[in-house]
Amino acid sequence: MSNPSQLWQQYLAHGKAEAVPVISAHAHYGPYMGIYFPGRGEADSMLKMMDRAGMVRAVCAPHAALIEPSRGHALLAEVISTHPNRFAGYWCINPNYPSALEASLEEFARSPGFVGLKLLSDYHRQPITSPNYAPALEYADEHELPVLMHTWGHSPFDGPALWSEVAARHPRATFLMGHSGYGEWDLALDVARRHDNVYLELCAAYHVNGIIERMVRQVGSQKVLYGEDLPWFDPQYAIGCVLCARISDEDRHNILHRNAERLFGWG
Ligand SMILES: [Zn+2]
Repeated sequence: MSNPSQLWQQYLAHGKAEAVPVISAHAHYGPYMGIYFPGRGEADSMLKMMDRAGMVRAVCAPHAALIEPSRGHALLAEVISTHPNRFAGYWCINPNYPSALEASLEEFARSPGFVGLKLLSDYHRQPITSPNYAPALEYADEHELPVLMHTWGHSPFDGPALWSEVAARHPRATFLMGHSGYGEWDLALDVARRHDNVYLELCAAYHVNGIIERMVRQVGSQKVLYGEDLPWFDPQYAIGCVLCARISDEDRHNILHRNAERLFGWG
């Protein structure tokens, strides 16, 4: 059966759906040591990919800061000041540098355009429940911040089983489960359903056949956010997965931009 969606018809005709100003809640910025993609993580090429796919904004965690918290944020800050309506930032927290955390959070507070925190526990090899994360989580709670977390199924560091506890303890922060606890779907969806402050984020999950439909059915499209790890992956493919899913155009609007507009205050 062909897809009756108006948005899909626009997308097929133009490579973007004009009625959907897409926001990526999970993107990165700058060069990365683990891959060779010359220039791809810089503003010009990111903007080209965004324009082609109809993406108005990307919320980025700078690659360098994922590893070494004193690097990378300045690079992204510069781009945000040049393109304040196209780029926003997550401030990266590395629990292996506990003595630097307080100063880092103060710098975040002084940095315009940085709208939340980013946690990458699987890479930093510290469980999200570790005391080294506590000051950052308390800060996010106190300031009612969005927190994008890398989450992966069955991980002892950031698997969905750990998030119930973290979300319940910090009810004023909003937790975006990056990759939606990939692979441990039942539990991840259950955590998002039970906690008002936990959202599912689609990066990497979008290509799993049927998962978007399940999220919408079991959790609701108001709790699902679009992301694709730009500049790693092509946003047109990821957006196409949402437009092709067997959900309503209202659901597609929620996922592709409305939820992010509400969360980040861009409505
Ligand atoms: Zn990522």
